Amino acid sequence: MLTNEGDVIKKYDLIIVGAGVIGLSIARNLPRDLSIAVIDRNEPGRRASYAAGGMLGAQNEFYEDNALYRLSMAGRAMMPEVISQLEAETGHQIHLKQHGLIKYLSCMEDQPLFERQFHFLSQTDSNIRQLNTKELTQLHPGITGTSGIYIPDDGQIDAARYTRALKATLSHVDFYHDEVLNIRKSDDYTVSIHQQQLQSAKLLIAAGAWSQDLLRMLNIHLPVTGMRGEVCYMYHPTLHLRPSLFGTNGCYIVPKANHHYLIGATSQPDRENYVSDSGIAWLLEESQKMLPSLAAGEIIRTYSGVRPFTRNHQLYLDECSEGLYVATGHYRNGILLSAITGHYMAQLILGRREPLLDHFRIKELTT
Ligand SMILES: Cc1cc2nc3c(=O)[nH]c(=O)nc-3n(C[C@H](O)[C@H](O)[C@H](O)COP(=O)(O)OP(=O)(O)OC[C@H]3O[C@@H](n4cnc5c(N)ncnc54)[C@H](O)[C@@H]3O)c2cc1C
Repeated sequence: MLTNEGDVIKKYDLIIVGAGVIGLSIARNLPRDLSIAVIDRNEPGRRASYAAGGMLGAQNEFYEDNALYRLSMAGRAMMPEVISQLEAETGHQIHLKQHGLIKYLSCMEDQPLFERQFHFLSQTDSNIRQLNTKELTQLHPGITGTSGIYIPDDGQIDAARYTRALKATLSHVDFYHDEVLNIRKSDDYTVSIHQQQLQSAKLLIAAGAWSQDLLRMLNIHLPVTGMRGEVCYMYHPTLHLRPSLFGTNGCYIVPKANHHYLIGATSQPDRENYVSDSGIAWLLEESQKMLPSLAAGEIIRTYSGVRPFTRNHQLYLDECSEGLYVATGHYRNGILLSAITGHYMAQLILGRREPLLDHFRIKELTT
């Protein structure tokens, strides 16, 4: 169909804006006979989802029981099966590693929160152990430090490979490599990209740190911003670290395939993607305090990503007005939460609301 302006109009059952891990995971969970368009101005999976450490840190991230903790635990439990299905379907290796994570006490000021976390986790899981200096070095000989918490079930994956595999399963979906220029609502949603308009009764905004820009086109204000994180990818042929090492100051070392190590991550309120010398210097200094032998590693590349950040770490998984769905605010845990977000949001789009989603409704929405 042609509009007055000469733009082609294409109709779909659902339009998704954002081909990050969240948009792709939701698309994968929907029936294949639904007609779906996914729009992204970048290559799918190349923004926050590409930079991620891939940790499935459902216990690492929490100090108390709450809805997000329960969602994270359920999400982590889903990942092994999702990964093995994706690997079987696509032939992509996603490198799920289940060697646990050590939460590392970076400085004495963090001790009260660290103790509180150990207290909470050890009450809910008898496999959680506190480690002293000697026990830290028993887990890996080169680790220095006074105290750690061993979390055996927080595994990790290769986030970039995972996102590529998700995309590879969506051959039935129309991908538009384009920028959303405008969104209008009449009976249906009309989404304008260059020289084309797409129409659907249902629209999903899964645009990460930029979700607010899209919603503003519909006069909706949602307080989602960006938190840039820098990462350094290293090669160290003689280092054999197995668990991830995560400092209470936010610096972490995640062992990847073939003696590669992902060192992350800084946190700056910013939606621009760039790497600073000071950020990389901080990562190297703090990671080497935990594991001095890392100093002999070779830096392969540095990069950054922008996490979708919200006040109070509020996650939004909701239908905020008729036919308008929002899935954003995953902040540091979008990989961990991707499978469960995909499952529950697909259900919501099909008209079935999971009760746990009531905790992730958009209450502060202003028009
Ligand atoms: C350094 C770093 C380390 C991390 N480590 C972990 C980790 O170990 N474990 C974990 O679980 N999570 C981690 N995360 C968090 C995780 O990466 C994010 O929560 C997740 O990737 C968010 O996915 P998303 O799909 O919402 O956003 P994104 O991946 O950013 O995708 C949003 C997409 O929307 C597109 N878009 C935006 N605006 C428009 C527009 N106007 N038109 C068209 N397209 C548009 C963008 O191009 C982008 O591709 C990390 C993040 C960073 C940055």
